[in-house]
Amino acid sequence: MGYFDIDICVIGAGMAGLACATRLSGAGLTMKVIDKGRGPGGRMSTRRAEIAGEMVSFDHGAQYFTARNPDFATAVKAWQSQGVVAPWPEAGEDAYVGTPGMNSPIKAMAQNVGVQWNCRASAIVRERNGWRVETEGDDFLAKSVLVAIPAEQAHELLEPVAPDLAKVAAGARSEPCWAVMAGFSQPLDIESDAFRDADARVSWAARNSAKPSRSGKECWVLHASPSRSRELLDLPKEEVGPILLQDFFEQTGTTPVDPIHLAAHRWLYSMAEPVDGEPARFDRTNRIGIAGDYLHSPRVEGAWISGTALAEKMLAEA
Ligand SMILES: Cc1cc2nc3c(=O)[nH]c(=O)nc-3n(C[C@H](O)[C@H](O)[C@H](O)COP(=O)(O)OP(=O)(O)OC[C@H]3O[C@@H](n4cnc5c(N)ncnc54)[C@H](O)[C@@H]3O)c2cc1C
Repeated sequence: MGYFDIDICVIGAGMAGLACATRLSGAGLTMKVIDKGRGPGGRMSTRRAEIAGEMVSFDHGAQYFTARNPDFATAVKAWQSQGVVAPWPEAGEDAYVGTPGMNSPIKAMAQNVGVQWNCRASAIVRERNGWRVETEGDDFLAKSVLVAIPAEQAHELLEPVAPDLAKVAAGARSEPCWAVMAGFSQPLDIESDAFRDADARVSWAARNSAKPSRSGKECWVLHASPSRSRELLDLPKEEVGPILLQDFFEQTGTTPVDPIHLAAHRWLYSMAEPVDGEPARFDRTNRIGIAGDYLHSPRVEGAWISGTALAEKMLAEA
């Protein structure tokens, strides 16, 4: 087990944590970014699967994102010129997706700042000159700690050491979301590539294979509405896939077709009702801060705005 002495430890390498780390890199500070995930994505994850001998991918979290904030729009243009995002007009005039997978911009940012994956912060402990971030492997001794993880998880980590920030995180309430990934041998008889109906059991469905830079078999991602997700919350995932696929066929009036691939994933914390106030918080005295979509808006863009705001605050108050 190692013990590293650094200026900043960023916990969480989703859009918020990486936007923060990207803005901080180049400021001459030593930084460690850690994430419990096996690879880049967070809630912008892409899952690969082999279907009939062919590798396909499913964006089972965020489906697309908008870029209305001018600074975020500039970042998105830069990603577009790197080829890691592209417009997807099917979801809206100003909609973008990662290419070839939703996690591509996350992957690109993670490569630039360096991320230690499979590294879960289990506790943050006060030390004389800063903070010790405990993980199952290495511990990190940092002058400042920035926590960029979903509100409920942030609350748990912060409560023993930063009760004011924990209280802010406790103000956000996230909805669960069951996501279904379905592959078919033939295209479904559905004209539109994206389907949205907030009142339906399946409130979003997209032909994943029709997004830019995807290829291969007919693949769909279905998202259950918050109320349907809560109804099915504790069912095994093997049962949830067929139920939601049936819901989808009924809603769209499509003749049911047997999928050749069917998987489900439960997001316990998908989109948060955000808390009011500033888009990021930094406790200057104790040198600990928080960022995440729950501090701005429950979207990719909101996470980027929050992460960038945290970095700006830290640099301004250094
Ligand atoms: C089903 C679903 C659909 C969505 N649809 C859309 C959409 O269409 N458009 C849109 O704009 N947004 C959408 N969103 C929301 C969007 O994905 C999020 O707002 C955004 O990705 C949040 O980024 P974040 O960095 O705040 O959090 P996350 O992406 O959750 O990143 C947090 C990271 O922290 C890591 N982590 C957590 N705990 C620890 C720990 N203890 N130690 C180390 N690492 C830890 C996680 O592994 C994760 O990588 C959707 C989300 C979901 C789940």
